[in-house]
Amino acid sequence: MKPAVFDYHSPADLEEALRLLDEFGYDAKIMSGGQSLIPMMNMRLARPQVIIDINNISELSYIQVTDSVIKIGGLTRHYQVEESKEIERVCPLLTEGMKLIGHSQIRSRGTIGGSIVHADPTAELPVMMTLLGAEFTLASPDGKRTVTTDEFFLTYLTTTIDMNEILVSIDIPIPSTRTGYAIDEFTLRKGDFAIVLAAASVTLSEDGTIASASLCLGGVDGVPVLLEEVTEGMIGQVPSTELIAESCEQIADLVEPEPDIHASSEYRKDLCITYAKRVLERAAERAALL
Ligand SMILES: Cc1cc2nc3c(=O)[nH]c(=O)nc-3n(C[C@H](O)[C@H](O)[C@H](O)COP(=O)(O)OP(=O)(O)OC[C@H]3O[C@@H](n4cnc5c(N)ncnc54)[C@H](O)[C@@H]3O)c2cc1C
Repeated sequence: MKPAVFDYHSPADLEEALRLLDEFGYDAKIMSGGQSLIPMMNMRLARPQVIIDINNISELSYIQVTDSVIKIGGLTRHYQVEESKEIERVCPLLTEGMKLIGHSQIRSRGTIGGSIVHADPTAELPVMMTLLGAEFTLASPDGKRTVTTDEFFLTYLTTTIDMNEILVSIDIPIPSTRTGYAIDEFTLRKGDFAIVLAAASVTLSEDGTIASASLCLGGVDGVPVLLEEVTEGMIGQVPSTELIAESCEQIADLVEPEPDIHASSEYRKDLCITYAKRVLERAAERAALL
């Protein structure tokens, strides 16, 4: 299959990319890794008249780790995050989650910004960004603005990014010490998009009780779903299989996943509970080892 005819621009810097985006407006699409955009164009689900390829804008590709935050440029490839020893040291969730994205060929080309803007609710990055409380910086000819994941993700494949904006950087707060993380997912085949995915964090106090915990699910709604109702009752308690199992039972009443050709709503709910328990237990075990 081939895409519809389009004009191609390859700006050398961000300023030029923003000028082109402003000039062509809704007729244009940014291309970063092309791993989602090109298949959509080939299937004629997207027919941009102008492609603005940002792959030459090297200023958008970087990883910086400070004491309090991980900063990732929008054009940074999945594999660069997966292989970063600094990221593995301060936030191993990202290392673990990145390995679940497609196959190594996809991760060698796909970008962090592209996956976030594509906003597939079964994709790993939107779920991890939501769990971690990331913020996204969007640049336009008028300047920059920073948004939270709550403000950014609207529904399936839809975000609040404006047609003249580029996602230039992602800021992820570095978790406090004694925080364990886990991410896991149910797929039909290795490398497929998840039917359901779950990510969790558990922070332990000095006395071994839970100081804070978070759980985020993907594949159950149009956006990643943070389930504070499940984790808030765990605060102050000693983590155990029973506590986690009991807390997760309420998930059946909190999510209403749509059925599709892959799974019924009830089956997805069962998967949510199974995977939520699994990642919370694993996160608590890992926190106890720190
Ligand atoms: C076989 C296959 C399996 C896959 N499996 C998975 C999987 O298991 N999990 C998963 O999460 N993903 C999976 N993907 C998708 C992959 O992760 C993509 O890389 C990702 O969704 C999009 O990133 P990209 O850089 O390729 O973006 P592109 O395809 O270039 O762009 C995607 C969208 O984002 C816009 N865009 C891109 N970058 C920016 C930016 N910086 N600012 C503003 N807009 C931007 C584009 O205009 C387009 O609308 C798979 C893809 C394939 C082909």
